[in-house]
Amino acid sequence: MTRIGLIGGMSWESTSIYYSLLNRLTAERFGAWRQPLVLIDSLNFQEIVALQASNDWDATGELLVDSAQRLERAGASVLAIAANTMHMNYDVVNNSVSLPVIDIRDAILQELRARGSTALSLLGTKYVMENDFFASYLRAEGIRVVVPDDAAIEELHQIIFGELTRGIVTQASRERFIEIADQCRDAGGDVVGLCCTEFGMLIDESRAPFACIDSTIAHVNALLSFYDG
Ligand code: GLU
Repeated sequence: MTRIGLIGGMSWESTSIYYSLLNRLTAERFGAWRQPLVLIDSLNFQEIVALQASNDWDATGELLVDSAQRLERAGASVLAIAANTMHMNYDVVNNSVSLPVIDIRDAILQELRARGSTALSLLGTKYVMENDFFASYLRAEGIRVVVPDDAAIEELHQIIFGELTRGIVTQASRERFIEIADQCRDAGGDVVGLCCTEFGMLIDESRAPFACIDSTIAHVNALLSFYDG
């Protein structure tokens, strides 16, 4: 019996999307009212945001390890860190529990491969776009990774922290996102990676004006491949 554990609250806006998707996709595959067993450990995002801003990734790692171990003790059989940025701490979390921790980077990689693509526009927080933990993971697998210029990185970061994680969705930001994505595609990033778990609030993967991968959907699908009822 699978019990899915989510390290959530980063932000709660996207954790609620994970929860909806886990239930909706399970019902689509197995029938109405079939709902996966889910444990959510929802963290205080204010604390995480402050530590991220001061580049204290050891301290974020400690919070995530505590959360992972809480979920393991509570009976989770598979775990996910419900955010791209905090995959910065993937290794320390993965080493702290005996459960599989489903890597969002791998979920994106598998989705790219399923589509026969080898090039990604990597769009997310500035931590995701500027640090190497995300791009290098994909490059090591033969993926060409394109990131926006510095000004666009700041703009996307501001859209995430000033708007999406506060539940604010605007048409202006949607249009700006599409412009930035187009620039990255022109630079060779064929598939647009929505590598922030809130980006689905802005861009619908199935209706976007370009090929894109919503990391939240890819991550939920990867988690559900563990689901055995
Ligand atoms: N949910 C976000 C992500 O996927 C951003 C919030 C955070 O910085 O943790 O990266």
